[in-house]
Amino acid sequence: MKFLDAEPFRIKVIEPIKKSTRAEREDWIKKANFNVFRLEAEQVYIDMITDSGTSAMSSNQWAGIMKGDESYAGSKSFFNLRDSVQDIMGFPYVQPTHQGRAADFIMSQLYAKKGGYILGNLHFDSFKGHAEIAGSIPIDLIIEEGRTANSNPHPFKGNMDVKKLENFIKQNGSEQIPLIIITITSNGNGGQPVSMNNIRAVSEIAKANKIPLMIDAARFAENCYFIKKREEGYKAKSIKEIALELFSYADGCVMSSKKDGLVNMGGFICTRHEELFPAINQLAIINEGFVTYGGMSGRDLEALAIGLYEGVEEDYLEYRINQVAYLGEQLSKKGVPIILPTGGHGVYVDAQKFYPNIPQSEFPGQAMVVELFKTGGVRGVELGSCAFSKKNLETGEIIFPDLELVRLTVSRRVYTNRHMDVVVNALADVFERRNEMKGLKLTYEGPIISLRHFTAKFEPIH
Ligand SMILES: *Cc1c(COP(=O)(O)O)cnc(C)c1O
Repeated sequence: MKFLDAEPFRIKVIEPIKKSTRAEREDWIKKANFNVFRLEAEQVYIDMITDSGTSAMSSNQWAGIMKGDESYAGSKSFFNLRDSVQDIMGFPYVQPTHQGRAADFIMSQLYAKKGGYILGNLHFDSFKGHAEIAGSIPIDLIIEEGRTANSNPHPFKGNMDVKKLENFIKQNGSEQIPLIIITITSNGNGGQPVSMNNIRAVSEIAKANKIPLMIDAARFAENCYFIKKREEGYKAKSIKEIALELFSYADGCVMSSKKDGLVNMGGFICTRHEELFPAINQLAIINEGFVTYGGMSGRDLEALAIGLYEGVEEDYLEYRINQVAYLGEQLSKKGVPIILPTGGHGVYVDAQKFYPNIPQSEFPGQAMVVELFKTGGVRGVELGSCAFSKKNLETGEIIFPDLELVRLTVSRRVYTNRHMDVVVNALADVFERRNEMKGLKLTYEGPIISLRHFTAKFEPIH
């Protein structure tokens, strides 16, 4: 293996991306009101805004696209997908949905109840929203090491705090807790993995208290790779064996196929309980489509059936996780403050350490995203005072989040390490000029503060 550690694929089809000048980028970002969500994608050289739905498909998947069966009911492509999911995850009942959040919605309708607490490591926004609409209160119980932008080398910063979980159940009573969800990897704190030990322990507590346990499996393959590399007893096991064991501890899962499914759209919800499946099917029928397509076209079901297998291939995962680690290592060498260890799908830069001179009220993370785009045509995303601030409804006072981060998300099988070098050099250049940098002023927020980052407008502070 020593000599073979480059990308485990060669390139058959290419998609040109445009280089641009700093003057052009300054003009574009100004017209986009200093919000990278408002740019045209063609103006971006290297796009690191998300890893969701941005994967490159393989020649096999494209062949599957041609074979897709578009029958309304009983599509062959559905059965192929169901077979893949049964084989890799071990759940017998599989309902496709148009994307992950639709599976979240169905899960919330199945389990959430008024006034109940839904416990998780770190809940993902789309489920949180659905749970809250259904009247439940989502609670995050991630371990302390996973909470802050420190460089504690804990190998599984996505773990749930088992003591806190037990205490919470004791204090509130299991009848007040309709559901526990473990998100793998933990998206909210940087794609940090959850250990098998932790999932097993949570599952035992859940069973003892008769609380169902669901897995949010968007990045399950990356999580299984971390288990293989970092947890005792898993070195000799295949990713598929690890995945099967992991899912065996849960009652079901929800999946955004746009991540480890290696497709551009899609999702599903699974259960091992026959008695729950009719309700899942009917919620799908009214919101998604008939049970054998659930909002996806036959060709997309086919590409996903193949992509799930490619996503658990070890050579692929090694390349994938190593590329993210490479980006992190190179940035660290240049002195850029990042969250360590790097997780599965991107590098998170600590914008407060990067720009200690810019207060959160002047959006240091957003300022970094803007300057990185101007410098290298690289589009990152702010996860800080623009995305996560809250408002005190009585006083109108803004409450800033603890963390001020910028995420450089790595798409799957899309960019080479030479592209990563461009990102490193551009951000290192921004870092060298950090003392001259000024913050931004928010000029437009939109009606919902928790969604403002998608449409916000800014002006530079001079
Ligand atoms: C992306 C994501 C979702 C939502 O999936 P969509 O396909 O974007 O609707 C849910 N949970 C996690 C952990 C995710 O990363």
